[in-house]
Amino acid sequence: MLFDKIKNELKSENPVNYNKFIKNLEFDEDASDSARLVIKAPNIYIANYVKRKYSKKIAELYKKETGLEASIEITTKEIKPKKLEEYEEIISTPSVLIPEYTFESFITGPSNQFAYSAAKSVAENPGKSYNPLFIYGGVGLGKTHLIQAIGNYLKNKLKVIYVTSEQFMNEFRENVRNHTMDRFHEKYRNCDVLLIDDVQFFAQKEQTQEEFFHTFNELYNQKKQICLTADRPPKKLHDLVDRLRNRFEAGLIADIQPPELETKIEIIRKKCEINGIYLPDDVIEFIATKLDSNIREIEGMIVKLHALAKLLGVNEITIDFAKQALKEHIKDKKENITLENIIELIAKEFNIKPSEITSKSRNQNIVAARRTAIYLAREFTKESTPSIAKYFGLKDHSAVSHSIKAFNKKLKEDNEFRMKIEELKNKILIRKGE
Ligand code: ADP
Ligand code: MG
Repeated sequence: MLFDKIKNELKSENPVNYNKFIKNLEFDEDASDSARLVIKAPNIYIANYVKRKYSKKIAELYKKETGLEASIEITTKEIKPKKLEEYEEIISTPSVLIPEYTFESFITGPSNQFAYSAAKSVAENPGKSYNPLFIYGGVGLGKTHLIQAIGNYLKNKLKVIYVTSEQFMNEFRENVRNHTMDRFHEKYRNCDVLLIDDVQFFAQKEQTQEEFFHTFNELYNQKKQICLTADRPPKKLHDLVDRLRNRFEAGLIADIQPPELETKIEIIRKKCEINGIYLPDDVIEFIATKLDSNIREIEGMIVKLHALAKLLGVNEITIDFAKQALKEHIKDKKENITLENIIELIAKEFNIKPSEITSKSRNQNIVAARRTAIYLAREFTKESTPSIAKYFGLKDHSAVSHSIKAFNKKLKEDNEFRMKIEELKNKILIRKGE
């Protein structure tokens, strides 16, 4: 067919883009005629991209094949964007499995690859690969999405229960009150996969913890899969009774870190696609750099932006429009953090004098502080490597690059260290945000 031929031409030109944008285009025969080609894209994001980057090319290829001039129209299978209210319901912690939370809709990058792979492996071999699986990480980084992806993957084959720890506790209390504990046992001890979200809220409720401990053991002994999430690792769940904490620690523990810029951009793209929202690339990048890592918040902002543009009859969302619309949410963090801010914080954290950081001392603690400060200076200020070198008394810019490279290596290899540095970064941002 003619359109397939055109697609093949585009494929040979750029196979990567082909897979991303062209492969799933469909020719709408009914709507087209010889002077007007209507092409259906799977979503608005792709439709707009193809419109911008490929319309001309497609018209050219068409002309080459047929000798005819035609206008190119890209449409999309109509997706109704969700209303804000509908949306809010979904993004607060859900009480049931949300079909959209799948492995396919989860974007991976270095920050979450490990947790993703662990979850996938559990879904493919429930009860056999890692038991329990414990996923932890900050707010809005995808814990619920991942644990629910396991549930969605298995729900047609196995008996899956997804609950938040609060639901679990409420149910427990209600059954105690109504003297229907046998019903409670029946339910929880007969499932194949038990997913409990946000177990940090188990805190201090000893009686429920006790109950959960027994449920846990029973399921575990029957080789049923248990997955848990929390906002911190088990060893930091201080209110948990020891034996429960030990159980949590006995399986696989996977963390999710805030996404790197690239991953964040991909996630935003995906969210736009799912919600039928089109944002130009530069606006996506702008949002990714200016908003925090909390994906839930970012999603809210995307919807807000879209709703506002609609309301105001704005056809094209530009950076300026986004800047204006999201003004209260954007902290221009990088622009107002200075080298002095960093030195001050690091001196306090490492318990040394600010002047020692920029001195030539080889004392181990001071060297560590200096390296950390250099890394943060590169992350948070606009200083160039030569000026950082000068400020910290290093030989030249390559000494700075070298130091940062070594630092990044350690960040990648050492979980504990990475958490510490994340904490430091947050401290800087919070102080400046005040
Ligand atoms: P948490 O439970 O860690 O607070 P959620 O799982 O509720 O976070 O994630 C918040 C929102 O961000 C959800 O809509 C989720 O789909 C989305 N999200 C987070 N991480 C990713 C990712 N890596 N890829 C796609 N969507 C993500
Ligand atoms: Mg959650």
